[in-house]
Amino acid sequence: ARDQVHNFAAGPSPLPTTVLEEAARGLLNYDDTGMGICELSHRGKEFKAVIEGAEANLRSLLSIPDNYTILFNQGGGTGQFSAVVLNLLAAHRLSHPVPAEEFIPPTIDYVLTGAWSSKAYAEAQRLCLPPFPACPAFATPRVAASTKSTKWTTLPKKDEYDFSKEAAFVYYCENETINGIEFPPASASGSSPFAFPFDQVPKGVNIVADYSSSFISRPIPNIEKHAIIYAGAQKNLGPSGVTVLIVRNDLLVDTTEAAKLGCVPSTPITYEYKILADNGSLYNTPPTFPIYVSALVLQHLIDNKGGLRGLEETNKAKAELLYATLDEAEKQGKARCVVKEKDARSWMNVTFEMLGEGKEKAFLEGADKHGFRQLKGHRSVGGVRASLYNAVTLESVRALCEYIKSF
Ligand code: PMP
Repeated sequence: ARDQVHNFAAGPSPLPTTVLEEAARGLLNYDDTGMGICELSHRGKEFKAVIEGAEANLRSLLSIPDNYTILFNQGGGTGQFSAVVLNLLAAHRLSHPVPAEEFIPPTIDYVLTGAWSSKAYAEAQRLCLPPFPACPAFATPRVAASTKSTKWTTLPKKDEYDFSKEAAFVYYCENETINGIEFPPASASGSSPFAFPFDQVPKGVNIVADYSSSFISRPIPNIEKHAIIYAGAQKNLGPSGVTVLIVRNDLLVDTTEAAKLGCVPSTPITYEYKILADNGSLYNTPPTFPIYVSALVLQHLIDNKGGLRGLEETNKAKAELLYATLDEAEKQGKARCVVKEKDARSWMNVTFEMLGEGKEKAFLEGADKHGFRQLKGHRSVGGVRASLYNAVTLESVRALCEYIKSF
C-alpha cells in the first residue's frame, strides 16, 4: 500500500496522496459532469477553469511579475533545450534588424554544471549548425563556465565565469537532478561564493534557467532577473507531459518575421512562445490530464502549506537532516556524499555512495525491504540518489536516516 513505502524517485516522483485521490475521482467524473477530465474538450468551460486556475495559483505562489506570461507546453524539459534557442535567436534577430549580409550571429553562453545543462548545450550546438556549407552558423554556443573537470561535483565560483557581451542569452540549470548540484537559494546567496552571478552577466543579456527539478520547492525571489524560467512538471508539480514556462513578454516574438530577415530559422509551431501565448496555451490540444493534476497540486499548496516559504523551510530541514546523517556516516567510513561543498548541495536530489565491496547492492536491497523505493542513482553515474521533492515528508527522510545509521 502507498502508506507502506517511502518513494524517493527522481522523477516522475511522488505526488500528494490527497491530490491523487481527487485526480482519480476527476478521471471518472469531473465535478459531477458525469464525464472524466480526459473526456472533456480542452476548449470547454470546465477545462478552461482548470488551466486558468492553475495559472492564477502559480502566479500568486511564485509572485510572478505582470510583465511575464505563463505558458504550458509539451515536449518535456528537453523540448525547451530546443525551444529557448529558437525563440531567443528570433528575438535577438528582430532586435538587430540589419540586412542579412551585415548580421553578426550572436554567441549563446552556457553554464555547465552537470548532465542536463550539458545536454542543453549539445542541443544548441545541433540547432546552430549552418544551414548550408559556407553559410555562417546561426549562433555560436560557448561555455561560460564549467565544472566538468570536477565530474560535476561542485558549482563554479564567481571568478570562474566568462560571459560574452554579445550573447543572445545565458543559460543555466538551477538544479542538476543527476549529480545533485543546486545553486544556493536566493535568500542565502548573498553570502555564498556559489551564488549565480547575475551581476556579472553583461547588461541587457537575457538569462534562461532550467528549474525542472527544483520548481516550486522554494520561492524564486529573482524572477525578474530572468528572461525565461521553465520546468518539466514531473518532479514537484505533477505528472510528466506538461512543461511550465515563465516568459518575459518582450520575448513573445513572431519567429517567422525573424526568419524572413534571414540568418535565423523559424520555430516549429507548437514551440513558438508567441503562438502559445496568443492562444492561452491552447493553440493545439494540450496535455489535459497532466495540467489538471498540476492544477490540483497548486491548489493543494495554496490550501495546505505556508506557501513556498513554508515549503522552503521543510525542504531545507529534510536536506540538512539527510546530509548530516551522511556526513556522520562518512566519518565512520560507511558512506560518501558526492557533493562536498555545502552551498552547492541540492536540496532535491541527494547523491551518495556506500563504501566497501558489495555494500551498495546490500544497501539498496535492504532499503527495498524497509519500504524505501527508487533510491538507485541515475544509470549514467551509479551510486545512490534520494530525491526529496515536496511530497516526500520529513518523516520519510527521518526513516531513511535511521536506516542509514543502522546499516
Ligand atoms: N532538465 C532537468 C533538470 C531534468 O531533471 C530533466 C529530466 N529529469 C530534464 C531537463 C529533461 O526533462 P524531460 O525528460 O522532461 O525532457
